[in-house]
Parts: sequence; C-alpha cells; structure tokens
Amino acid sequence: MKNHSLSVLSIITTMCLFVSLNLMGQNKDLPNVIILATGGTIAGSAESGTQAGYTSGQVGIETMIEAVPGIKELANVTGEQLSNVGSQDMSVAIWIKLANRINELLATDDVDGIVITHGTDTQEETAFFLNLVVKSDKPVVTTGSMRPSTAVSAEGPLNLYNAVAIAADTKAKGHGVLVVMNDQIHSAHGVTKTNTTSVQTFMSPMHGLTGAVLYGKHEFYHEPHGIHTTNSEFSLDGVTTLPRVDIVYGAVDSPADLIEASIKSGARGIVIAGVGNGNMNAATLAACKKAAATGIKVVRSTRVPTGYVLRNAEVNDDENGTIASDELNAQKSRVLLMLALLKERSTEEVQRLFYTY
Ligand code: GLU
Repeated sequence: MKNHSLSVLSIITTMCLFVSLNLMGQNKDLPNVIILATGGTIAGSAESGTQAGYTSGQVGIETMIEAVPGIKELANVTGEQLSNVGSQDMSVAIWIKLANRINELLATDDVDGIVITHGTDTQEETAFFLNLVVKSDKPVVTTGSMRPSTAVSAEGPLNLYNAVAIAADTKAKGHGVLVVMNDQIHSAHGVTKTNTTSVQTFMSPMHGLTGAVLYGKHEFYHEPHGIHTTNSEFSLDGVTTLPRVDIVYGAVDSPADLIEASIKSGARGIVIAGVGNGNMNAATLAACKKAAATGIKVVRSTRVPTGYVLRNAEVNDDENGTIASDELNAQKSRVLLMLALLKERSTEEVQRLFYTY
C-alpha cells in the first residue's frame, strides 16, 4: 500500500514537472499554435545544397521550428510529429489520426490554431479531407516546401513562418482549411499542385487566391467557396478507415476493363479523370453504366486542370446513373466520394454533395 502511494505520488510529481516545463517560456499574451508535422520535402534533406534528388521526411519538427528565426514571436509554438513520410505515402490511416488529433486539440481553450507540415504532392487532398472533417472554426493551415531543408534558398522556413502567422490570427477563423505556400493563401477547395518542381506550384484556377502573405503580414481577399468544417455534414466519429474509391484516367482508346478490375478489387466508387468535360470513350461509358446499375457510385471528373464537369452535358448522367464532379478535380472527387460512401446514399444525394462541397 505504501509503495503504491509512493508510486502514485511520483507519477503526479513527474506530470506536474512535465506540465510546468511545457509552460516554461510560454508568453501568455501570444496565441498558442501547434505544428503537426507529417513529413514531406520541408523536412527533406540532400547531400548538397544544389542536388535535385533528396529524401523526404528526414528532419524532425523541433529542428524545423529552430530553423525559423522569429517564429516564437508570433505564437507559443509547440511541435508534434505525427508521421514523417513523403506525401506520396500519405494514407487514410494518417488522415484519420491527423483529423482526430486536430479536433481534440482545437476543442480545448489552450489551442488557437494548427499548422500541418506536409509534402506538396498530395497536400491538396489532405487539406480538402480536413476541410470536410475538422469540427472547429479555428485556423487550420497546411504548408510545405518544394526545396528540401538543405537546398540553396530552401523556402520551407518562410512558408512555416507565414503559416504560423496565419494560424495565430483570429481573422483566419471561419475560412476552412488553408494552404499557405510561396506567399499565397489558398483554400482547400480551390487549390491544386500545377508544377512538379517549381516553388510556384500551387494555384487556385477556379476561384483565385484566398489571400496573400508577406513575412507574416497577410490579407484575405474573399471567403473560400464551398461548405466546410463546422458546417460540414461529415464526421469521423467511430470511423477507422474509408471505403475504397479508385481513379480511372481517360485517354485515347483507354481500356474499359480497368473499371471491372477495380470493382473486383473492392472499390465501392469510381472516379473517372475523363477527357474534356468529364467525357470517356463508349466502352468506358458502357462499363460505368453497368457499374452504376449495381450500386457502385461513378463520378465523372476530368483530367483537364480547370473548368466544370457539367451534369447531362455530353454525357447523359440521368440515363447512365453517373454523377458530375462539378468543380472538383479527380483527386478531390475521390476524397469526397470516400467520405460520402461512409453512409448509404442515393446517386442524387451524392450529386448534391458534389454541388455543395
Ligand atoms: N514527394 C514529395 C512529397 O510530397 C515531394 C514534394 C514536396 O514535398 O515538395 O512529400
């Protein structure tokens, strides 16, 4: 009994010490921003400053914070390492862990904003996913970099500085999840990666920039398009994984049997990255119609970087049982369809989601 009381006392003492150490150096007048690090080029390193090849996800979050002069004057910044992967290896499992952690942190009065460091390859998908499942209007900002931390003119530290400045600002509340890169503020709904290697890679072709940022000073131009965060009907309560949705890319004479192969492998939804206005060849359209008749949800998106995919334009969606992606590209259509399939929904209901989010 005595030993038991002693060990309880020592646990309490250790916890108090941990809490006071954590609070040491915190400025009560500054907002509290948590950086959730997932990896990517911003945490990448190469053997030399001018080497094109490098390995993503090498540098830990504490080292990244230390590399940004002035960041601790913007906010009380705390880092947590959630994963350390190149974003080509981002996964549904990490998404769920990330979203749950964000919701848990933002539910407390102690956290004012979140920054997520992330590879750029799939950043738009993660941002859009979070935009649909985060249950708070507090700022949530993703950032990354195109150049690894060891490169000449690595832009990661300034991107991180700008992201923290925005996450610390109450004016960033209610904008949904934001992507901050290269002095620009994008909405999760609108943003897409457009260049494989340039630091100016993110663009928002349909709605334009949400705002701009220069050395932490920032301005918002307009509200993001689409319903998000606190108004979103999606929830991850009790969710441990997402239904499989595959993307089938359209091209001249592209094979239709990929659709059947996907369904046989367990896909419950198919997104067509179609040609033009979500078009596809006759064989692919026939395969989509057949799949839709069996209850598979088939969304027509496009491989074209900008523009709407219109319902009942060149393809008769009513007749084929297909869904038009409206303004979502194929990779974001896949995110929305995975979340939509968490519940039994009619084709009409899924179409409504594509007009809404
Ligand atoms: N493949 C890397 C990633 O997405 C490179 C892109 C980047 O972070 O810039 O993590």
